[in-house]
Amino acid sequence: MKSYIKLSLYYLVLGCILTISSCGTKKYDALIVTGQSNKSHHWKASHNAVKQIINNTGLFSVDVVISPEQGADMSSFTPDFKSYDVVIIDYDGDPWPNTTQTNFEEYVKNGGGVVVFHGTNNSFPQWEAFNQMTALGGWKGRTEKDGPYVRWENGKIIKDNSPGKGGTHGKKTPFVIDTRAPQHPIMKGLPMKSMHATDELYGKLRGPAENMNVLATAFSNPKTGGTGNHEPILFTVNYGKGRIFHNVLGHVGQDEDMTPYKSAFFIYAMQRGTEWAATGKVTQAIPEDLPNQSSALILPAYKDFTLEDLFRNARKYEIGKSKKYLNLILQRIRNHSTDKDYLEKVEDEMIKLLSADDCTTDAKNFICKEISWLGSPKSISVLKALSKKAETAEMAQFAIRRLQSKN
Ligand code: ZN
Repeated sequence: MKSYIKLSLYYLVLGCILTISSCGTKKYDALIVTGQSNKSHHWKASHNAVKQIINNTGLFSVDVVISPEQGADMSSFTPDFKSYDVVIIDYDGDPWPNTTQTNFEEYVKNGGGVVVFHGTNNSFPQWEAFNQMTALGGWKGRTEKDGPYVRWENGKIIKDNSPGKGGTHGKKTPFVIDTRAPQHPIMKGLPMKSMHATDELYGKLRGPAENMNVLATAFSNPKTGGTGNHEPILFTVNYGKGRIFHNVLGHVGQDEDMTPYKSAFFIYAMQRGTEWAATGKVTQAIPEDLPNQSSALILPAYKDFTLEDLFRNARKYEIGKSKKYLNLILQRIRNHSTDKDYLEKVEDEMIKLLSADDCTTDAKNFICKEISWLGSPKSISVLKALSKKAETAEMAQFAIRRLQSKN
């Protein structure tokens, strides 16, 4: 009984401390809306990958709402958009109920953030406000009645009202993406030319195209069945006080080939674009691994980081630079605050980091503070070694005192 109380108290204190130590990072609330896609797309695969990509920023707490399936009664589908900083739509299917459409329009008009990508711009050809928010869309009977074609020509955007269908793509291929707005927060610091991994390159999209700002384009090569135009790839749209980030990349079909979601360009665009849609700013550091124009950079980041990945990356932390990996570690600890085995694994990783030669002093000092609450007597010997080095002595001695008073 006594040891049970001691353990409960320990976790209570641990919980409080972890809450305090993570106060510096406000989490934004993101909602992914999904549940239907057309036959050539696969919402179950795409929304999970995007969820992981957004989670990996450490900035968002992500919820998912899944609509009724195609053909079912949609009347109960009423997501609470206004509780979120950003709504990410991965959906192409039956119309939403009128009240849901109205709620969404109000949410955006009042300053809500929205992210749409790839097949989502095929959806809702009849919903006028949605088409204003996305600016461009494809297929589903879209023609000149829906708005102009938009392309990049001679250093600027051209709107072309000539008649014809909206939406086409050639064969899947890798292609180069040109940055067109290098000072925009989403693009700032990213390369002027980035190779994107094999994906569909949407062309000849059409729509109202009002209040849109094109951030990046790609040449759609006729050799692979493309349009011969520089097509918009990333753009932002203003609707009322709301901010919309539109990314036309990200094809995944029934074969579940996730290549586009492993492409560094796609990952960075989604991470930065989602933060911008939520807040109007981008605080994420420019990644160390950047794509170049000759070969696509493939990252595993659409998968969940393992605890080992997080600790390996945390070794590079320096004060003033991104705390992303440290924050993700704290988040894991919070999520497993009652799982003794998991916390023991965390302690083992902390001991490894504190013993590593390739770890920064700032990372070691940060972890010393955390291990002082989470650790056990097995941490003391590594802390004693650190207490003999001037740059870590203070934090290591602090941690030793805390651990000794606890045990
Ligand atoms: Zn597609």
